Amino acid sequence: MIHHSCDGCKRLIDPSQALRYVVRMEIYAATDVNNTDESDDDRDHLAEIQDILEQMDDSESEAIGGEVYQQLRFDLCPQCREKFLSNPISREAVTQLDFSQN
Ligand SMILES: [Zn+2]
Repeated sequence: MIHHSCDGCKRLIDPSQALRYVVRMEIYAATDVNNTDESDDDRDHLAEIQDILEQMDDSESEAIGGEVYQQLRFDLCPQCREKFLSNPISREAVTQLDFSQN
């Protein structure tokens, strides 16, 4: 039986006790398409990035490729899911909603 542990708090997620949440993130370099003549809005940016990666030689693409495109995947317990949703990019100053004021 496969046990998953939470990538946030490292606790084991017991499927009979709690739901496991999968977070998938794609981070890729934004390409500015406005300076081309073609108005192909539905162009596949991912394919474009893969083309860039294929054009680079292997030793380079590993280092540069990580900066152009990264995909991350995390398993989270319900508590860490809540935490993640409240601050997905780990902002240092999180704006707290304080309903006791105003
Ligand atoms: Zn957790």
